[in-house]
Amino acid sequence: MAQAIHIELSKQPIKDWRTWAACRGTDPNTFFPNRGESITPAKIICGTCIVQVECLEDAIIRREPAGVRAGLSTRDRRVLIGNRADAKLKTKSV
Ligand code: SF4
Repeated sequence: MAQAIHIELSKQPIKDWRTWAACRGTDPNTFFPNRGESITPAKIICGTCIVQVECLEDAIIRREPAGVRAGLSTRDRRVLIGNRADAKLKTKSV
């Protein structure tokens, strides 16, 4: 007889999320490409990472000034931060 398997996903952020980072042990230069170099290899690695949410929030909180985090470039993150700020303002004005 087959057993039902129930997995409860935690709604809590993963505290030691860096332990689970897909980029652990990879060449850091992949995530800090020189001007004109592709960020696609970093994005591919991030695409397999189970802690993208935690990584992105950390990068935003720290205002990480360089590198690819959670598949987003510094510019992408700046846009995201701006969008969040806009959304917050709209919420307050309603
Ligand atoms: S999302 Fe990308 S940069 Fe962040 S921990 Fe995972 S692999 Fe590393």
